[in-house]
Amino acid sequence: MRMADVRTVPQPADFADVRATNLAVVLRHVRTAAPCSRADIAASTGLNKATVSSLVAELIERRMLRETGLTENRIGRPATMLVIDGSGYAGIGLAIGPDHLTAIAVDLAGRRILTWRRSFTAPGKPPGRVIAELARLARRAAARVEAAAGSVVGLTVAVPGLVDPAGVVCRSAVLDWHDVEVRAPLERALGGPDYPVGVDNDATLGALAEYRYGAHAGASDLVYLTGEAAVGVGLISGGVPVRGARGFAGELGHLCVDPSGPRCSCGHTGCLDAAAGVDALLRRTGDAPPDARGARDLLARDVEVADLVRRAAAGEERVRSAIDEVGIRLGYAVALLANLLDPQVILLGGQYAALGRWLLPAVQRAHRSLSVAPDTHRPLIATSNLGYEAGALGGAAVVLDAVDSARVAFARSA
Ligand SMILES: [Zn+2]
Repeated sequence: MRMADVRTVPQPADFADVRATNLAVVLRHVRTAAPCSRADIAASTGLNKATVSSLVAELIERRMLRETGLTENRIGRPATMLVIDGSGYAGIGLAIGPDHLTAIAVDLAGRRILTWRRSFTAPGKPPGRVIAELARLARRAAARVEAAAGSVVGLTVAVPGLVDPAGVVCRSAVLDWHDVEVRAPLERALGGPDYPVGVDNDATLGALAEYRYGAHAGASDLVYLTGEAAVGVGLISGGVPVRGARGFAGELGHLCVDPSGPRCSCGHTGCLDAAAGVDALLRRTGDAPPDARGARDLLARDVEVADLVRRAAAGEERVRSAIDEVGIRLGYAVALLANLLDPQVILLGGQYAALGRWLLPAVQRAHRSLSVAPDTHRPLIATSNLGYEAGALGGAAVVLDAVDSARVAFARSA
């Protein structure tokens, strides 16, 4: 049997469309309720038993579900239980960081197929070179997925900046890009792949990674803050990512949190990026050159943050107070987000997570002082456990979400 084709071509609202939607309904139900029987699916989804049997048969043929053992059903008869298979399909996420490229592939059952991270300083390089490097990484990742007997269902690139729905990076302060097409040249460099290629904001993808795989997965109202060279915000509201009218929502890095604070790359003073970004913290604690933004390589930044953690743990006053001040500025932004959006959880990602032990108390203090909600009704503020992987993992997650929700339609295998 040939692997089923997966396409993103919009389908007419006809029988095939209804069937694709129903396939997704069954798939989503099994994902949340597995192991479950065909009768369970019919009872929970309202689809009739014959339809469920036919849908399940197709999903088994496509290696998206598999049968596992028998159990007694409610009236004492044996029923075959179903679980997600998904080993034949994987989503790939790539991320462009200030100092690294990351690739992650995950199959539909949630198994990690690969995690690669390599040092690469994108800021200052011509976009064409960055895209050529992404294409190289994507080809290697796709080859690895296919060698693991799977097909690639899609690939999404996480970019720190404003990305429009056509895959154009309208602006990225971190990369110093303006109106750079990424999706079209990447598709060309990949020779017109038979899977969809997407480009999205890194913070939005980080939030989607948290929603699908994080410690607070499934929290319907979730805010994720990136913590690398700049601060970006990814929002999930009612279980759906908030992108805004143009896809630009969540750009909080230039919110003023300290009017007498340091000058920002945007020309204003006291922006969140400049006052509370990880690079700002590294500058304040002394070792990094004052104009180091975006100029570190991967190892240098990791080593600097690890050194900061060591100095904080040793009780170095200068480091503790710098982290505390950064935490207070970050707390102002967190309070604004909490008052505006009323989320269940606000997660600090990237390198903020490593500093959480000293950073979180200050963030919480500032948040408490500005929160409108009473003590018992405030969001949980925590560090992310996804680290530098969040953006790329979100790139894979958004592809798999599209399968789950039938936005990627399944064409009949030949
Ligand atoms: Zn600014």
